Amino acid sequence: MDLSLAGKRALVCGASSGIGLACAQQLALLGCAVTLAARREAALAEAVAGLHAAPGAAHSRLVVDLSDPRAAEHAARTALDAGPVHILINNTGGPPEGAALANSADDYAAAFQAHFLSARALVHALVPGMRAARFGRIINILSTSVKAPIPTLSISNTIRAGVAAWAKTLSIELGPDQITVNNVLPGFTDTDRLRDLQGAWASQQKLTVDDLRQRQLATIPMRRFGHADEIAAAVAFLASPAASYISGINLPVDGGRLPVL
Ligand code: NAD
Repeated sequence: MDLSLAGKRALVCGASSGIGLACAQQLALLGCAVTLAARREAALAEAVAGLHAAPGAAHSRLVVDLSDPRAAEHAARTALDAGPVHILINNTGGPPEGAALANSADDYAAAFQAHFLSARALVHALVPGMRAARFGRIINILSTSVKAPIPTLSISNTIRAGVAAWAKTLSIELGPDQITVNNVLPGFTDTDRLRDLQGAWASQQKLTVDDLRQRQLATIPMRRFGHADEIAAAVAFLASPAASYISGINLPVDGGRLPVL
């Protein structure tokens, strides 16, 4: 099975911590040159310094606030200055928690900008190079909420469904160019994002965080939270040559938590 990404370049968004950082690490292990993009320069510098560097694979960093689609487009153009980008990992911080009726129109609009319009800007900038290379991988980090909406994550539930539908549409348009478009749907994954949500949920439900975590674990057949590396392993496989005929899918990586739908 060909998992080698030697000679390929990737742009990984939201890469200073959590799932994005793990994606950058896994892609680097497969020989890819990776540009890590996020807001925090110091965290990015540390992350780049810690990456495995295969011969000829020079990693780099880009400071960008993905809540602004114009900044996202500028970041993509900057990444392209060093050559074509074959792999795009669309990822950023999760939207704020809240009930459907509690979130404001501005909250929904901000998430649409950060999660859809920025991803769209990146895709528009990078697709011409992927087309020329006749190799492209667009992988969106979404959520199991694409298949089963999660209570009190109304904005995320709404935006993820829209991005998933866009990605499927893109996969149809880009198939002839040998560009695949897929979504990875993390389940409960042990990162800052999950810990923040667990704090909020525990207080809403008048539970300790530990009690809430025990209740969540009971819903996961594997009885543990995922590691960012386990999400990233699926991402790296989808990015690899071995996944050349997989496109337009939603891949849950959730320890079996989603029910049969
Ligand atoms: P995280 O909060 O641990 O990491 C998010 C990363 O995105 C960080 O590097 C952060 O600096 C960066 N980031 C945040 N806002 C940004 C911005 N405006 N511009 C640029 N970079 C920005 O989150 P995570 O757990 O790694 O989650 C990644 C994505 O996966 C999120 O969208 C999250 O909602 C989703 N997700 C996470 C889980 C989970 O259990 N952890 C489950 C389902 C979906």
